[in-house]
Amino acid sequence: MVDKITYSPDGHLQVPDEVAIPFVEGDGTGPEIWSAAVTVFDAAISKVYGGTRKVKWKEVLAGEKAFRKTGEWLPQETLDCFRDCKVGIKGPLTTPVGGGFRSLNVTIRQELDLYACIRPVKYIPGVPSPMKQPEKVDMIVFRENTEDVYAGIEWRAGSNEARKVIDFLNSQMGQDIRHDAGIGIKPMSAFGSKRLVRRAIRWAIDNGRKSVTLVHKGNIMKFTEGAFKEWGYEIAKDEFDNRIVLEEELMADPRDVPDRIVIKDRIADAMFQQILLRPEEYDVLAMPNLNGDYMSDALAAQVGGLGMAPGGNIGEEVAVFEATHGTAPKYAGKDMANPSSVILSGAFMFEYIGWSEVAGRIRASLEQTIKDKIVTYDLARQMRGAKKVKCSEFGRAIVDHL
Ligand code: NAP
Repeated sequence: MVDKITYSPDGHLQVPDEVAIPFVEGDGTGPEIWSAAVTVFDAAISKVYGGTRKVKWKEVLAGEKAFRKTGEWLPQETLDCFRDCKVGIKGPLTTPVGGGFRSLNVTIRQELDLYACIRPVKYIPGVPSPMKQPEKVDMIVFRENTEDVYAGIEWRAGSNEARKVIDFLNSQMGQDIRHDAGIGIKPMSAFGSKRLVRRAIRWAIDNGRKSVTLVHKGNIMKFTEGAFKEWGYEIAKDEFDNRIVLEEELMADPRDVPDRIVIKDRIADAMFQQILLRPEEYDVLAMPNLNGDYMSDALAAQVGGLGMAPGGNIGEEVAVFEATHGTAPKYAGKDMANPSSVILSGAFMFEYIGWSEVAGRIRASLEQTIKDKIVTYDLARQMRGAKKVKCSEFGRAIVDHL
């Protein structure tokens, strides 16, 4: 019987053997990469479990397909289904111009309170990379998803709202803001920052990682970014005291602490140098929204670009995994795009629901396919002696390697 994921009273995911998982195929190249990906998922599940476990994929609508069929870009039914089923996956979505949305992706994250955007970044051997030693990159980014400048509180220069805020700040708060300024607000709360850092530390503990680095710009933005760092240290000390050690303690008293997660912090601009120069010293990274936006794409570039980067947006109850690139509209309908991001996001999702054998099998087969130099156009153009295949052929090659 097809069933939904639920939670046990102690908060653990309970996954039935035949489980309903909703998916949005996405816009642009979305349908092609989804089709290649789902072929890989079903084949891997069947290979690992021989029919004793199955996913019943349940299509839900968002983006252009939803608009064509229902007149809405993001039907309430889609959000309800993700909420109900607890775990889902989506392809990339076009940002509608004038659709009343800042972005469909941001709306999905905010509506479902998927507060942590998690991006594992690990090098796959054979993938072309601008780094000399890309195999040193093995990090996982936890990016806060609901606050910071992405909360979308801003007013156009010259608008009544902008004028009101500027008048208030200039007359009541001793500021001297130019009257033709646009205004954006950067809210960052103790609640939002702490739950993100808590999640990152818990993940580090559960997955045997070595450190959690808080990445911030607190030297300049003291009461938002600086507070993020302070709240991060607070949660580490208050809730994980017997599982962590602070980097500054180790500097004062150097010793081996194999059973402890080292908590450190770095200023964001310096961190961009660190991920290039000393990537092996970093592991789990926790950061506010905008830093996380830049940092996760920069890290993805180090291991072969966004076409290869998986991602998941996770809240207390619901998780939606997704390709990290956009819809790549110029390749839509050409069966060319690289489906690896959705395939690896699926592997990440299977790991999340506890089907780790499936995740491992998918990753190993994808790695072997790339090692054999069977790749889509984006990688083929950077690899010597590669066999360039279509998106669907790449999916089938992964299935052959399972
Ligand atoms: P994009 O769709 O990510 O495409 C930019 C370039 O990245 C492509 O032209 C291509 O580079 C490469 N690329 C992206 N996906 C690829 C894939 N699967 N395989 C191979 N190469 C890939 O970014 P965009 O053109 O800025 O955005 C297009 C639309 O997507 C916009 O409406 C945007 O709002 C939306 N978007 C959605 C998401 C999301 O749903 N999560 C994220 C970002 C953007 P080359 O041409 O050099 O080969």
